[in-house]
Amino acid sequence: MASFVSSEGLEVPRLLGRVSGPRPGALLIAVGGIHGNEPAGVLAIQQVLGLLESRIPPVHGTFLGLAGNLAALAAGRRFLDRDLNRIWDDPPAGADAEAREREALERILRTELERHDGPALVIDCHTSSGPCPPFSLPWPGPGLALKVARTLGAPLITGFERHLEGLLLGWVTRHGYPAMAVELGAPVDEAAAVLAEALLRALGALGITGPAGPSRETLPGVPEGVPGELEVAHRHRIPPGASFTMLPGFATFDRVTAGQPLAHQNGELVRSPLDGWILLPKYQPEGEDGFFVATVPDRPPSHDRDGTIPGSRRRTPPGRAHPFRNTPRHRQ
Ligand SMILES: [Zn+2]
Repeated sequence: MASFVSSEGLEVPRLLGRVSGPRPGALLIAVGGIHGNEPAGVLAIQQVLGLLESRIPPVHGTFLGLAGNLAALAAGRRFLDRDLNRIWDDPPAGADAEAREREALERILRTELERHDGPALVIDCHTSSGPCPPFSLPWPGPGLALKVARTLGAPLITGFERHLEGLLLGWVTRHGYPAMAVELGAPVDEAAAVLAEALLRALGALGITGPAGPSRETLPGVPEGVPGELEVAHRHRIPPGASFTMLPGFATFDRVTAGQPLAHQNGELVRSPLDGWILLPKYQPEGEDGFFVATVPDRPPSHDRDGTIPGSRRRTPPGRAHPFRNTPRHRQ
């Protein structure tokens, strides 16, 4: 399948669009809808392409937008046969829907990354089922992802790579390119607007749309008092076949304490094993991750190697999270 038909009846191709500036520079590839029930990423990319073609023309390099799981987007489901964002460690056996989607997406990613001469970054756009402020997940690898993540005006979370396998981000970094995800949970139009703003900030940080200063405003929805950088310390994996229900009312970045009941699993309470901030509490039926708990890292992320980005701000001193609590909260 080379396209899907959106709920508005519009045909959406895998290659959502490409806009290049007159001079060489960085390549930003944005992927939306690798989970088919997350169309906000596709909408965000389309918004950014529209802006680059009209009001904010790129000056250096290229922005490329890709739709992820076309078959699942058409069906409005996270996936058809298996999660397209968990099968990137090895080429999957079989010829099911997601194996075909992966093959097509891999082909275009490989072609575009290999033909580009200059810095490149892949941003995978996600939305979560529950209410969730925006955050970024720079994957370990070239330092460019971490540097761009620090310009987005949202907390960045490291350490997911120790808990999740088979992500597109892993494939990209194994092939030598930086990659990060941006995630948030909100009604689809709102989520698309925030994702589009994040992509525009990344384009500025990469110099594609000209010199960018540091982001002075947090992205809409970032709560006050959340540290700028957190690290995943615990993943609650739901065993196959177990019944799992989150207790009501949890949202990403809520504070939790050790021993606090968070969910029911097979009739028993699941408690937080440590103090921290809860991430991605599972209120949707699909998926095996119940929740994550993050803490402030006691050292800077190990993959914080140097990279160069025009216009990016200096990193925070080692070991210090830069808090957003003193930053005015942007409201929509
Ligand atoms: Zn997703």
